[in-house]
Amino acid sequence: VPPQARTLCPPAGQAGIRRQMEQLKREYEKQDRMRRDFTANVSHELKTPLTSISGYAEIIREGMVKSEDVGRFAGKIYEEAQRLITLVEDILNLSHLDEGAPGQERRQGIDLYALCERAVASLAEAARQRGIAISLTGSRQRVDGAEKLLAEIIFNLCDNAIKYNQENGHVAVSVTREGDRVVLTVQDTGIGIPPGETDRVFERFYRVDKSHSKEIGGTGLGLSIVKHAAAYHDAKIQLDSQLGRGTRVRVLFPLSQREAQP
Ligand code: ADP
Repeated sequence: VPPQARTLCPPAGQAGIRRQMEQLKREYEKQDRMRRDFTANVSHELKTPLTSISGYAEIIREGMVKSEDVGRFAGKIYEEAQRLITLVEDILNLSHLDEGAPGQERRQGIDLYALCERAVASLAEAARQRGIAISLTGSRQRVDGAEKLLAEIIFNLCDNAIKYNQENGHVAVSVTREGDRVVLTVQDTGIGIPPGETDRVFERFYRVDKSHSKEIGGTGLGLSIVKHAAAYHDAKIQLDSQLGRGTRVRVLFPLSQREAQP
């Protein structure tokens, strides 16, 4: 064995390489398992609303629905179809994020506050219908990012804060600067998340209360999209929640390069 080879591959080195190989294999197996779980979950989630749509359409076709009830059944079909659309959109968003590329978008300096204004305006009606007040405070702050993804983060967090709120609840959204970070905070006065589940809610298709989440239109993918979109922006997520009292999610973005320059 030439001397260089001996220094490159001493017995301890071989053991190290074997350890690395085993670690890679474990990592690959984990990824593979996650991919298979994801496919099984997607199939199940797609099949449920499709089965309902097909069932409702079938009984209308068979003439088993009185004419005055047809509108109600059409409403059910419409709701399930909307669910499917949201689900497919979420799955497409996640698959773009998996590829590490949010479409064709390039990173640019984006006013996070302006995006929050848009999200709050678009959700105001949904909040009002549930008797929930939504407010926005803070100041204009720029982050370097992909606009669509940043909008997804804000929308999903605000949407959850409204969906999992309580009667006469409140959602407070803010954009502030803390040192070299721009911080987006979405705080609600809602049902809260049990202490043992605050990490799990970021997993794909994980829901604390499956039936409640489905009933109010959740896909179980929102926070997973938030997690990936935050990682794309090198942002950190902090979630604090108290059962029955409310939840606060903070996303800490690095300051836009332009602002960070002296
Ligand atoms: P979903 O589409 O079901 O809302 P998410 O991925 O956005 O899925 O969230 C996962 C789960 O985490 C939800 O089903 C819900 O149980 C819980 N959750 C998320 N946000 C909140 C919140 N603000 N308050 C209470 N529970 C929440």
